[in-house]
Amino acid sequence: MITSGGDSPGMNAAVRGVVRAALGRGAEVFGFRHGWRGVISGDGFPMNSGSVSGIVDRGGTSLHTARCPEFREPKGREQAVQVLKEFEVDGLVVIGGDGSLTGARRLFEEFRFPVVGIPGSIDNDIAGTDYSIGFDTAVNTAMDAIDKIRDTAYSHDRVFVIEVMGRANGFIAVEVALASGAEAVLVPEVPFSLMDACNRLRKLRVEGKRSSLIIVAEGAARATDVADFIHRTTGFETRYLVLGHMQRGGSPTAFDRVLAVRLGAYAANRLLSGFMGEMVGVDGGKLVAHPLSYVLSTTKNIDPDRLLLVEAMTV
Ligand code: ADP
Repeated sequence: MITSGGDSPGMNAAVRGVVRAALGRGAEVFGFRHGWRGVISGDGFPMNSGSVSGIVDRGGTSLHTARCPEFREPKGREQAVQVLKEFEVDGLVVIGGDGSLTGARRLFEEFRFPVVGIPGSIDNDIAGTDYSIGFDTAVNTAMDAIDKIRDTAYSHDRVFVIEVMGRANGFIAVEVALASGAEAVLVPEVPFSLMDACNRLRKLRVEGKRSSLIIVAEGAARATDVADFIHRTTGFETRYLVLGHMQRGGSPTAFDRVLAVRLGAYAANRLLSGFMGEMVGVDGGKLVAHPLSYVLSTTKNIDPDRLLLVEAMTV
């Protein structure tokens, strides 16, 4: 098993799910540190039940993670398969985002190596599952920070522009905007007009709302530029905040822990039952599995109704 790419809260609970379910079926389990890098360099170690004690509540990943450019090259993948054979690994569980899962797909398609993927990413942009591990925690972490900002925005009659993670999509931004009662949300997928946003803020001010929150996904615009524009256009006192890497950390929510342990155990069981080249996920609360080829060639889109709801809540 590896955890690879960007870390996300709940990966540890998934590791625990994989290890304990596999041991329960009589399998031997090896963990490789630092994702694909540890596979290539042979940094593997046997795991027993105690290896995953006391980690269910911890953010990050106890297996460590890394980016591994070598694995993108055919030579790197050949080396990885060689090492896996030396360790007598019959199947690999890969916990990570779309990059890590693309690596898993290549291992399966090029070498027929048995792999099962688990979606671990705060971005929630992976198709084939309603939720990826870490998204719920990241949203809650951002929401907690924004609740504090709201207090000071209210006291000083300020507009606050808050940048959340999401380089290519607005999943976190939309969820956070709804949870925080923000006045506007800017996402990379949908064109937006800052002038419209300013007009809306002016209208709200006339109606007596003296402070506002605007959520920006990092891929849509820079919070500092948005804040500048709003200040110059409206004259309102405006501040900005970039939440940054704090969104990746922290103890996972109950939702993420339960999701992770379910997906971990399911992945181990699928692999031990002979399934391969797939990713496990949840669909309407039920566990599902889809081919990696489907998952990685399908785009998951934000829910347009949620986006509209943010605006509808500012009448
Ligand atoms: P994430 O898994 O969070 O999306 P990355 O995109 O950085 O993170 O991918 C993690 C690692 O997965 C990369 O460092 C690389 O080793 C492997 N990987 C990513 N894309 C590919 C690819 N196209 N082919 C092979 N391996 C890949």
